[in-house]
Amino acid sequence: MKQHDTSWVKALQDKVAELSPSLPDIRHELHSYPETAYKEKRTGSLIRDLLAGEDLRILDPLLGTDVVCTLQGAAPGPTVLLRADMDALSMNDESGKPWRSLTTGIHHGCGHDGHMTMLIGAALTLSRLRKNLRGRVIFLFQPAEEGGAGAKRLLEAGLFQNTGTPDAAFALHGWPGLPEGVLHTRPGHLMAAQDRFFIHIRGTGGHGAMPQLTRDPVVAASALVMELQSLISREYDPRRPAVLSVCTIHGGTAENIIPESVELSGTTRYFDEEGRYFFRNRIEEMTTSICRAHRVEGTLKYVEGYIPVVNDSAMVDVCRKAVELSLGSACWNGRGDMYMTAEDFAYILDAVPGALLLLGLGETWPGLHTPQFDFNDRVIDRGVTALSSLVLGFREM
Ligand SMILES: [Zn+2]
Ligand SMILES: [Zn+2]
Repeated sequence: MKQHDTSWVKALQDKVAELSPSLPDIRHELHSYPETAYKEKRTGSLIRDLLAGEDLRILDPLLGTDVVCTLQGAAPGPTVLLRADMDALSMNDESGKPWRSLTTGIHHGCGHDGHMTMLIGAALTLSRLRKNLRGRVIFLFQPAEEGGAGAKRLLEAGLFQNTGTPDAAFALHGWPGLPEGVLHTRPGHLMAAQDRFFIHIRGTGGHGAMPQLTRDPVVAASALVMELQSLISREYDPRRPAVLSVCTIHGGTAENIIPESVELSGTTRYFDEEGRYFFRNRIEEMTTSICRAHRVEGTLKYVEGYIPVVNDSAMVDVCRKAVELSLGSACWNGRGDMYMTAEDFAYILDAVPGALLLLGLGETWPGLHTPQFDFNDRVIDRGVTALSSLVLGFREM
């Protein structure tokens, strides 16, 4: 049996060690100037500036802010796509860090600044290791992960017509709650599909002391919130994970006025195709019938969101081998939990085989989408090594 060539491992470790002191500054710069979905203009230009002068071919943007570049290795071989998301969240930054957001109300609360930095690091590393590289790499800096389906829109706009269809695609997401620097994933479903729903309940308002003259939407809304909880506990297959959360409830202006209307909104999460059909239909039926029982009118708007993230089993094995070679087996957990969060990298994994890996930020690290969150600089070089190794090690599988 042919011995695999692993000479790239040492070359990679040396290059990352050389580059790693400069990476936190890049991350802090991105963190200080966060931009929300499809507005990542400054972010995109910074990435272009940092990658200029390397052996990379930088393509024109398809959606205004995306940065897509390709790297041709010294010998022919497979094409691997690496992706990072670019957008920040509409929320305040209360991290208290010297590099905290300079824009009030916008914050890199999901760590996409860290993802971009790691992909910049991988692009610099791999372009400087071109002689060790067989095949091609596509580096994809993608706008609008947070609800804007940037990955889906890039595919629809012809991403792969411009770059060629890759043989595999990989991405990292920093993850609080997991041990620092450990890569966590699983074959098959890693993250859920996600939809949103909005319910408008209309009654007849009136004096709080004269309910007999009203049709009270508050009581109807309360009944509906409770009944919706029975969909998962009593109807959905208990062997399949799913979530239904009502997250907002708004109505009324004073303690002695029964309002005209109440608004509810929430999210559903599930893994199977039927989940979407089930929740859309049953929420609709419950809204109509429970509201009718309370003599009010309920209308539902159900908005379909991302499809589930499904990792290819063979590709998870590719990742395991590459990470074990470059970082050691203590940095790998290939049988981790699945999560009810959603990620639009799902659309890329629907088009080509690959895997999403979660990079542990630390077990007690502040949660994603919190004002206190800030990416962990200590794992950046691990991420760069992992991403680069998925490319360099790919041909060995
Ligand atoms: Zn997020
Ligand atoms: Zn995210």
